[in-house]
Amino acid sequence: MIAEKYKLLQNKIKACCENCGRNVEEINIIAVSKTQPVEIIKEAISSGIEIFGENKAQELKEKVLLIDDDVKWHFIGHLQKNKVKFVVGNADLIHSVDTLKLAQVIERKAEELNIMQKILLEIKTSDEESKHGLEDFDEIIEIAEYCRNSENLDLQGLMTMAPFVEDEQVIRQCFKNLKEMQTKINSRGFELKELSMGMTNDYEIAIEEGATMIRIGTAVFGERDYSSSWNDK
Ligand SMILES: *Cc1c(COP(=O)(O)O)cnc(C)c1O
Repeated sequence: MIAEKYKLLQNKIKACCENCGRNVEEINIIAVSKTQPVEIIKEAISSGIEIFGENKAQELKEKVLLIDDDVKWHFIGHLQKNKVKFVVGNADLIHSVDTLKLAQVIERKAEELNIMQKILLEIKTSDEESKHGLEDFDEIIEIAEYCRNSENLDLQGLMTMAPFVEDEQVIRQCFKNLKEMQTKINSRGFELKELSMGMTNDYEIAIEEGATMIRIGTAVFGERDYSSSWNDK
């Protein structure tokens, strides 16, 4: 079942890339496996999925322990400083760094483990109050410079979430804002390559606007069951 859904998704991504003149190789699918049990993730692995996204620190840590296949894990949720220890080293990439303080706590843990932790900065691109993320350009540059001088933080790009609205123009504008932010940061001498944007409902718009990573849950796994046992962790 996952294999069919995944194939369908890949075909849609391919068609979308052809329509907007992008190379499909540039698009990385992060299969968002939050709430999904181990058996389902194993099925996804058999279907050829190689990168999984989790949004809860302990759930990520437990799944990494339970699943020893050669796959990558990304952390995509809001990260609290006291949970950094569960994520650094387990997540190949942390998408959601939204303060300098958080970057510093991640750095300390990465230094302890003697690893280079890849991260993205989460940017707030909509007016929606509920969304996390950085807005202030000087603050963003400050964190980017901090990462450049760090031996344990590898800043690779930016992430955003569009609001859940019907209006496609509102969503598209968020993705344009992220791309614009990347250009603006890179004009200061940085080389941020990754743009993590787009979910099941809006990934085609995100691809048109330059996404290099799309975070897809429902289109791969079907509707989520929030009563699953991971929920209270
Ligand atoms: C759950 C989640 C997704 C995936 O959502 P779908 O609509 O199921 O594709 C993507 N990004 C983040 C940050 C999420 O929490």
